[in-house]
Amino acid sequence: MSGGLDVRERWEIAVTGAVQGVGFRPYVYRLARACALSGWVSNTGEGVLIEAEGAPAALAGFLARLPREAPSHAVLRGWSARALVPIGTEGFAVAASAPAGPAPTTVMADLATCPHCRAEVFDPADRRHRYPFTTCTDCGPRYSVIAALPYDRGRTTLRHFTLCPDCADEYTDPASRRFHAESICCPRCGPQLALWDAAGTVTATGDAALAGAAEALREGRIVALKGLGGFQLLADARRADAVALLRARKRRPRKPFAVMVADTAAAALLADVAPAEAALLASAAAPIVLLRPRAETGLAGGVAPGSPTLGLMLPTTPLHHLLLRDVGFPLVCTSGNHGGAPILTDEKEALRDLDGIADVFLVHDRPIAAAVDDSVVRVIAGQATVLRRARGYAPLPIAWPAVTAPLLALGGHEKSAIATGAAGQIVLGAHGGDLDDAAARAAFTAGIGRQLGLHGLRPDAVACDTHPDYASTQAAPTFGRKVVAVPHHLAHALAGMVDCGLSGDVLAVTWDGTGDGGDGTVWGGEFLAIGGGRWRRAAHLLAFKLPGAAAAVREPRRAAVGALHALHGAAALTMEIPPVTAFTPAERRVLATMLARGLNTPMTTSAGRLFDAAAALLGLCQRASHEAEAAMALEAAAQGAVPARLAPCDIGDDAGRLVVDWRPLLADLMTQPLPPEMLAAGFHAALADAIVAVARRLGAGRVLLTGGCFQNARLTEMAVAGLAAAGIACFRHGLVPPNDGGLAVGQIAFAERPLIQETD
Ligand SMILES: [Zn+2]
Ligand SMILES: [Zn+2]
Repeated sequence: MSGGLDVRERWEIAVTGAVQGVGFRPYVYRLARACALSGWVSNTGEGVLIEAEGAPAALAGFLARLPREAPSHAVLRGWSARALVPIGTEGFAVAASAPAGPAPTTVMADLATCPHCRAEVFDPADRRHRYPFTTCTDCGPRYSVIAALPYDRGRTTLRHFTLCPDCADEYTDPASRRFHAESICCPRCGPQLALWDAAGTVTATGDAALAGAAEALREGRIVALKGLGGFQLLADARRADAVALLRARKRRPRKPFAVMVADTAAAALLADVAPAEAALLASAAAPIVLLRPRAETGLAGGVAPGSPTLGLMLPTTPLHHLLLRDVGFPLVCTSGNHGGAPILTDEKEALRDLDGIADVFLVHDRPIAAAVDDSVVRVIAGQATVLRRARGYAPLPIAWPAVTAPLLALGGHEKSAIATGAAGQIVLGAHGGDLDDAAARAAFTAGIGRQLGLHGLRPDAVACDTHPDYASTQAAPTFGRKVVAVPHHLAHALAGMVDCGLSGDVLAVTWDGTGDGGDGTVWGGEFLAIGGGRWRRAAHLLAFKLPGAAAAVREPRRAAVGALHALHGAAALTMEIPPVTAFTPAERRVLATMLARGLNTPMTTSAGRLFDAAAALLGLCQRASHEAEAAMALEAAAQGAVPARLAPCDIGDDAGRLVVDWRPLLADLMTQPLPPEMLAAGFHAALADAIVAVARRLGAGRVLLTGGCFQNARLTEMAVAGLAAAGIACFRHGLVPPNDGGLAVGQIAFAERPLIQETD
């Protein structure tokens, strides 16, 4: 660089990362003006491109401040600068976007309403007073309205709403919070509300529609609301009749509902909210946070029966803020769908599919480009763990430098989520529900097309689970010629390693419900030793017979009978204890035959099923209405209880592989004359002890806890404490779900760099 008063330089600066839809261009514009630079800034397929010209010192100052003062939601992955020939431009401009290139661009996640916009919506003097679609460069829809990249209004579902003169002024005024806010709109030019009755007839519009929905909720009726990423079903969370009505109509007998409250103060009335949890509630992602409920909440008992947690969330959009303030009470807020099906996004489809469920529909005319459900997060042993990754988190990329080739991964069958990998990052798509019905599978296929299309990817290989019956496995060949089948539990382990940025040797404790073991048995209580490009099943829980196979997922009593059979043989079916007596004599005879002959009775090492067995033996749950019910009942029983000292698991050696024999523990659980709460806590403690014991026996220096069982805070906290006391480093999931929702991330890691299985 040479000095001199009139020397000018021109630099091209390329910034990659989450820089679109976060107010980055307006930020660059203001910074460039403050530094007295000329030039322009534009969104590109890769991120943001800047050309800036001015005095060398001014340029240096600009470059130094650029990353440091970036908007809070921007994540800068990388940036590069090169010198150009100065061309003597005047002024600084926000230029039209260049078309998307082949490299992956970060698609910004949706952002909950910011404090400024919320204040405007409640300010009677503001022109956006009570306008439900108020947004700015800091907040509002992103992923859910993006039809193509780069992120410009013309490529969003807002493109048909022409800006009014006032909005146009704000959009072009560098001093405005809405300078180049692509989702800008107002009551004059933006989307509008309507209230439909169950026949689809418009009964009110605008503020009257909002008032009508509030009135319906006050009367105990069910409202279907078109939210940010799809329909939600709302009901008065205090009214037992309204909650029961919603449960009956949605055919969802006991699975917990989430509750939306106006603010963190309202949340604190219903649950214990630690500072980390309050921060999550109020974050721009605004997930459902699983909290420990207070004894007296005033909520209907049917909201979260038998659950150790209460899921609370804050309003996501001005529409939710207005509705919550208008009704003045907490609302049950659950996905607008059937069972595990994908969330509905189109009002005509919602009218048809939610017929008989919702009484009224609060809708609007801003199309949803991509379905995105509410996310679920739980703080477990001090660490926020995303259990359902969707709105606010998806599709932000996860750094994994090892990934180079474009890859697609299809995930599992339940809690379906796909992932793509390219150029050092993995994009885990939004939670897509279970793939049981045709509608879910159609949405799954559409979601893959959308994600590949947005990023301009043509995958070199398609990764899937090894389970032949998963719809995702069956679909794999339709997405590419090269299919890589990834063992289920290894995918869990690799997902956790990517999440933690781990490489090198690790013992992955992989505990879940069920997964294909590749050896004719159902795995789920595994200890996988990973390192040096290899993996080995170093230990597992003692296998037991699971009479009825898949039926056992819904009937913990079956897992209990299988576990009892491992303890007592055929005599198990003559025992006069709850899981056995929950069957009729005729059923018991059938079970005896199944167990004796191995009919529809796979061997399993599943920790999830062992938890089911314990819950059934303690009389907590014989039949489950949803997969996690028994485990949740066991955790709820253990909550706050002093653990009974139960016999530890025996750790045996089967030809170099350790086997955790839980039979002494279960026998003790059945005979100790103690309250079920203490026994439940003791069961958790004994299994956590077994994890530590196995890690010590194997000489593991680093342990990763992965799989759906580690959504259980009690088990995880005890394992974390035990490992810490043993001086063993413990790694856990954060942004990638430990359950099947995270599988696709591990599948990408495997497809990029397959591990060789060491067999014995
Ligand atoms: Zn805002
Ligand atoms: Zn306007």
